[in-house]
Amino acid sequence: MFRKILIANRGEIACRVIDSARRMGVATVAVYSDADLGARHVAMADEAVLIGGPAPKDSYLRGDAIIAAALATGAEAIHPGYGFLSENPEFVDAVEAAGLVFIGPSGRAIRAMGLKDAAKALMTEAGVPVVPGYHGENQDPEHLAGAAEAVGYPVLIKAVAGGGGKGMRKVDRAQDFAAALASAQGEAQTAFGNPAVLIEKYVEKPRHIEVQVFGDGTHAVHLFERDCSLQRRHQKVIEEAPAPGMTAEMRQAMGQAAVRAAEAINYKGAGTIEFIVDASEGLRPDRFWFMEMNTRLQVEHPVTEAITGVDLVEWQLRVAAGEALPARQEDLAIRGHAFEARLYAEDVPAGFLPATGTLAHLRFATGARIETGVRPGDTISPWYDPMIAKVVVHGPTRAVALASLARALEQTEVAGTTTNLAFLGALARHRGFAAGDVDTGLIGRDLDALVHEAEAPLAARALAALAAAGLESGQGTGFALWGALRRSIAFDPPAYLRVEGSGRVAVEIEGAEHICELRTDGWWVDGAKTGARFHLGGDEITVFLHGAHRFARPDPLARASQGPASDLTLAPMPGLVKAVFVQPGQQVAEGDRLAILEAMKMEHTMLAARAGTVAEVLVSEGSQVEAGAALIRLAEEEEAA
Ligand code: ADP
Ligand code: ADP
Ligand code: MG
Repeated sequence: MFRKILIANRGEIACRVIDSARRMGVATVAVYSDADLGARHVAMADEAVLIGGPAPKDSYLRGDAIIAAALATGAEAIHPGYGFLSENPEFVDAVEAAGLVFIGPSGRAIRAMGLKDAAKALMTEAGVPVVPGYHGENQDPEHLAGAAEAVGYPVLIKAVAGGGGKGMRKVDRAQDFAAALASAQGEAQTAFGNPAVLIEKYVEKPRHIEVQVFGDGTHAVHLFERDCSLQRRHQKVIEEAPAPGMTAEMRQAMGQAAVRAAEAINYKGAGTIEFIVDASEGLRPDRFWFMEMNTRLQVEHPVTEAITGVDLVEWQLRVAAGEALPARQEDLAIRGHAFEARLYAEDVPAGFLPATGTLAHLRFATGARIETGVRPGDTISPWYDPMIAKVVVHGPTRAVALASLARALEQTEVAGTTTNLAFLGALARHRGFAAGDVDTGLIGRDLDALVHEAEAPLAARALAALAAAGLESGQGTGFALWGALRRSIAFDPPAYLRVEGSGRVAVEIEGAEHICELRTDGWWVDGAKTGARFHLGGDEITVFLHGAHRFARPDPLARASQGPASDLTLAPMPGLVKAVFVQPGQQVAEGDRLAILEAMKMEHTMLAARAGTVAEVLVSEGSQVEAGAALIRLAEEEEAA
């Protein structure tokens, strides 16, 4: 076994590889860009080498710098993770020319599968079913239109060099073909520097089912299938293993085809054969076709690990170090069911736009396997994939595993950036998905319902109002000073608070009063234990209660000049009371100066929110106050009259 390896990647996959290497007693070297100096993968590795600037082309795509780092640190092998250089045959050749081991397939095998058209020709030869279509060299638009006609509409135009759903167009009618072709070719040229396309029959009610294979360069085994049909814009969202509705007959046919595919190219290491399946009449052994091979470890490999008990990274290291295949086909079996959900910093309602931000609060569920490259306080930068974590669950049956997934997502707490957590939660509770009735169109069809943000439960709203007043810890000057006053707080919708005792607050929202009580096990609302937790960000309050509910935090500086009902003037931040200008009984007009608070080296003047009579001055000059402390109370309107 290797003594030391270098991981040519970042984020969760770098951390994942380090985990297995460490368990095997193999030392690890991380590489990082300027943007990743404080990243988790750097902290986890035994050594780390800076390889350049934040843009991938200046660092994680610099094969020369990575090979130099391996040689300088005495690493014997390089694990590429996925993405970046993992499917780059020139990099593999360069690694080997430097006398190092590439933990993955040969450059030859990657080349054989690199272009979708050549791969399909090779697979046809090996007796693996491929989607009917035209995979030839003639790129003349007339010829391609003729091929589409022969295949029969609808068809799919695909970039031969494609990946990540780019350069792909579905065409339903002959009259739309020319325009779709031009746009697919343009996109392919921009993304891959290669405008060539192929034409495929568009499979109706398609399911994406892929088979994990593992080879030693001569023989290969398969580790069963994964279903990745839950996709948006051809990108996977939730994956599972095994595939719902899979029959023994179809599993055997797909597994054998995948092994034939891998052996046809003398595949070494972990790889995936992706198939498209026509599920319009259930799963049938004559209705799956080869789509492409991913010659690397796949993002969703943990679901396969969960059902087989195999550590695929360990297998990668062992086979790369020259060991034989760690298991025979008959040693491998499926146990239970597993799901993986990809948690991203992204704005789902805005069309799944990638988001950035600092993870001010981050807490993962217990009882799930979490693969992550970030820690609380880390930043999701615009430079890289905005994945926060993969949440992986396993259970004895699909129903149990799916319930675990829903629960794990509910228990996941992220604040500081927009995430797809609510969307994932909605998917995990989707009825069709629960019934195993999946196809690649499911998300698109039900997008509105899945993206709809349900209104936060009343308990979460009541607790957010209480947190907006700084009462969430059950302590503070508010409890001591507010007595039995009913006070309004700037909150949307407006809320009224009345402190009823230590750790007991009545919150009125939309005319209904909710009793919030802090007990030893957290906040109870209207006699029900909530288990709620809070995160207070600069301008946002997040209440975690069956999911994350975000509320705009009333601007504390605006509080002093809030609506007419406001009786209390509160300290917007911790500070020193520099001056008090009023006394009890004094009449004030709206906007009159009441006091000056010095905080963060700046003076803030507290103004009267309305005209009235000062009922109480609750602080004296020179006193230090907490944020939210009541400074001045005006007499209630009736009282003053
Ligand atoms: P798959 O599920 O087939 O592995 P993904 O949807 O995970 O594909 O990723 C699409 C493409 O983006 C793949 O080519 C993958 O290698 C790449 N990719 C995904 N995540 C990352 C990442 N964090 N860094 C770099 N490349 C990535
Ligand atoms: P990429 O290299 O971009 O991952 P793939 O060929 O793997 O491209 O296809 C990506 C996705 O597009 C599949 O998972 C599937 O959802 C859809 N797709 C691909 N081929 C077909 C087809 N012939 N019919 C219907 N959908 C398809
Ligand atoms: Mg693919």
